Amino acid sequence: MINQELQNGIKAFDVNDDIVKQWQEIVNCLAILMNVPAVLIMRLNENKIEIFRTSKSKDNPYKLLGNKNFFNSGLYCETVIRTNKRLHVSNALKDEAWKDNPDIAFNMISYLGFPIRHSDSTPFGTLCVLDNRERFWDVEEENLIIQFRNMIENHLELTSTVEEVHRLNASLERMAYYDHMTNIYNRRYFFEIAESTITLLKRDKKPISIVMIDIDNFKSINDTYGHAMGDEVIKALPQKIIPCIRESDILARFGGEEFILLLANSNRDNALIVSQKIRSIIEDTSVNGIKFTVSLGLSQINLDDVSLRDVIKKADEGLYQAKNSGKNKVCMN
Ligand code: GH3
Ligand code: MG
Ligand code: MG
Repeated sequence: MINQELQNGIKAFDVNDDIVKQWQEIVNCLAILMNVPAVLIMRLNENKIEIFRTSKSKDNPYKLLGNKNFFNSGLYCETVIRTNKRLHVSNALKDEAWKDNPDIAFNMISYLGFPIRHSDSTPFGTLCVLDNRERFWDVEEENLIIQFRNMIENHLELTSTVEEVHRLNASLERMAYYDHMTNIYNRRYFFEIAESTITLLKRDKKPISIVMIDIDNFKSINDTYGHAMGDEVIKALPQKIIPCIRESDILARFGGEEFILLLANSNRDNALIVSQKIRSIIEDTSVNGIKFTVSLGLSQINLDDVSLRDVIKKADEGLYQAKNSGKNKVCMN
């Protein structure tokens, strides 16, 4: 299982600066307590193994961020990660299995290491102590390293939990602002940003127009092609509208098969041109072979207009006229 995951490559797990500092303290302390020249936290990074933290101790030959290919590196750590088990080598020079391992070049002939794992048991790396002389460890000493290893694993778990909370928050925020079906703004967020945009534009005495867009005879699309196909039409509509508008305009799903558009810095004449363009593009294209049309009602916001809702009401009256005069039309109010 672990070897399969290793083969697939494990992406380096990011650890924040506070935790990095704490881990540095851990390796520094352990080096003193165990009386060894080197204590390391190794981290897997894709198919590499890297020295993530190295103790600031005298005679430590290991420098930060040296990395090696993980597979067949012959490193003590490779075995710890592969077997997911503690490894103790008291004296590599006396041990047939270890006498040619790469750490001999640093004169590190003794090794004790433990795997560091995430809470879902995927490997992160190792915590290990190395010495340039034969070493045997008693239970208390091993226990001390295990306790530090557990602390490191707790930090990892905490980091994952915090990240999960951030991800959840981001998706909640998205849900609050966006319509999940069309991925454009929802009605609530439209009112939020429209109000502030209008305040700014009014201050600069720039014209603003509101356009209501409603799919014609949508009920019969649902009835003829099914609700799922109806959804596809709703999803496709904003994609047809977006190329007709500017970055500073605001498009939102107002509800059902109805959309609202705030055209910034646009007077009635401009708004009429944009609305006609939207109307004709939709008339001329189709979604999954389904032809349909839209009706549009528009209204310009005057500087002394009382509220956004009143302007929307006026645009809605335009929409009503468009529907009543045969649909597939633009009417202004
Ligand atoms: P009109 O031309 O006068 O606008 O007629 P219409 O059929 O488009 O309008 P009506 O208000 O009678 O019906 C709209 C239908 O849209 C009714 C509702 O079931 C359907 N609808 C609302 N939201 C969705 C949705 O998210 N997906 C699908 N597939 N249908 C929806
Ligand atoms: Mg409709
Ligand atoms: Mg409608």
